[in-house]
Amino acid sequence: MSYDNNNVFAKILRGELPCIRVYEDEQTLAFMDIMPQSEGHTLVVPKEAAATLLDISPAMLAATIQVTQRVAKAVKQVTGAPGLLIAQFNGAEAGQTVPHLHFHIIPRRGGESLRHHASETADMAQLQALAEKIKAALI
Ligand code: AMP
Repeated sequence: MSYDNNNVFAKILRGELPCIRVYEDEQTLAFMDIMPQSEGHTLVVPKEAAATLLDISPAMLAATIQVTQRVAKAVKQVTGAPGLLIAQFNGAEAGQTVPHLHFHIIPRRGGESLRHHASETADMAQLQALAEKIKAALI
């Protein structure tokens, strides 16, 4: 999978498209998935132009997974979900739809099945309210 500068996450990183942000630093950005597979589904992306885990520099990968852990703790606290699925796809054949490396943080609750991948757009006001709580829970 080659890097496409016009992929949706590249546009979000350049400020050309909006996102519901929960965290940002020099190396990474975390924001709400607009088609969440469960309530609290959050994405973490590096600011390096890397399509997959195999393409990114080790230092940026380290920064991205550290932020993923930090955001995941806040998502767990806010949603109260007992389980968290951390997922990451490499290549269209593996299920990757956006060709910019990202980690999914997906809360899992007993007996609840996941919504289909990238299928239903959530209510933006609800996502924004959740994002504010996640921001406040970040340590
Ligand atoms: P993947 O299939 O692993 O590449 O996942 C891409 C994810 O990005 C899916 O879960 C989509 O719901 C999500 N997504 C697509 N466009 C946007 C967007 N503009 N803002 C936030 N999430 C998005």
